[in-house]
Amino acid sequence: MGMIKVTIDGIEIEVEEGTTILNAARQVGGKIVPPAMCYYSSLKGSGGKCRTCLVRVAAGSTKDPRPMPKLVASCSTPVMDGMIVENTSNQEVLDARKSIVEMLLINHPLDCPVCDQAGECSLQDLGYEHGLAKTRYEFKRRTFENTDIGEHVKLHMNRCILCYRCVYTADQISEGRCHGVIGRGDHAEISTYLEKSIDNDFSGNVIDVCPVGALTDRTFRFKSRVWFTNPMNISRKCENPKCCGKAVAWMSENNILRITARKDENNEVKEFICNTCRFEKKEITDWTVEGPRHIERNSVISQNHYELKPKHNFKVLENTAKQ
Ligand code: SF4
Repeated sequence: MGMIKVTIDGIEIEVEEGTTILNAARQVGGKIVPPAMCYYSSLKGSGGKCRTCLVRVAAGSTKDPRPMPKLVASCSTPVMDGMIVENTSNQEVLDARKSIVEMLLINHPLDCPVCDQAGECSLQDLGYEHGLAKTRYEFKRRTFENTDIGEHVKLHMNRCILCYRCVYTADQISEGRCHGVIGRGDHAEISTYLEKSIDNDFSGNVIDVCPVGALTDRTFRFKSRVWFTNPMNISRKCENPKCCGKAVAWMSENNILRITARKDENNEVKEFICNTCRFEKKEITDWTVEGPRHIERNSVISQNHYELKPKHNFKVLENTAKQ
């Protein structure tokens, strides 16, 4: 595949043909990367639903430099040679993003003080950056009872933004998906089929991919705020051939409060873990501790200076792991 040139917010880069605008921006990193609530690079078919990654194409290509008439979803629009893209440099894009956040928050409650996802929630970050102090919405909101969908996962449907990530995860990395989106429009909701529960070896991964606090870990509920915990890279030889055996332990002193898969700077899991590693191996002696985990993400969670003052007193085997 040939390389083509694209300019995003004044920065020119060369990327492979077929790369989307979002992935081209991710190759540069930093402020020019549009936010994404539904796109997830390791899940096929994801993207194109939340509209938070809208950008303006000021010039379509060298051959046809006309601007695109409307804002486009950067997660599903491929770059063309000579394309000029505006993200944070364009006020129209910022205004559109503000409106999208306002729309996502119509039904999503602002219950961050009691939500386990607070501190690592993509919608909380977006709301902080683009949200309005007040809502203009005057109608009745959709409300649901919280439900246990399986032994390990709690569903807070009120917080769901219908990004479909959990559905793609269940479809693509676990066998026998038994949950999905039922209903349409304002009646659409995540639900298990016919009162079934989600119980397969990889069901816990839906918690990691959920961008908000709609799917939470029942073994971690209300135990701590994430920014009070010390994340450590841990690994073990897992018997499950589909499990990578590499995880993050979120610790308080020497106790593991929860285990998650490792996320990159875009808040995405590239290698998934099984439920045995996630929910059953909660003793530090079950794992090899590689060292403190560096959190690259720009969110509340990165504000803790745990890397300078680790509180654990067990032996760290390697201190080089960054991701
Ligand atoms: S439960 Fe979470 S991951 Fe699933 S659709 Fe709702 S917001 Fe997305």
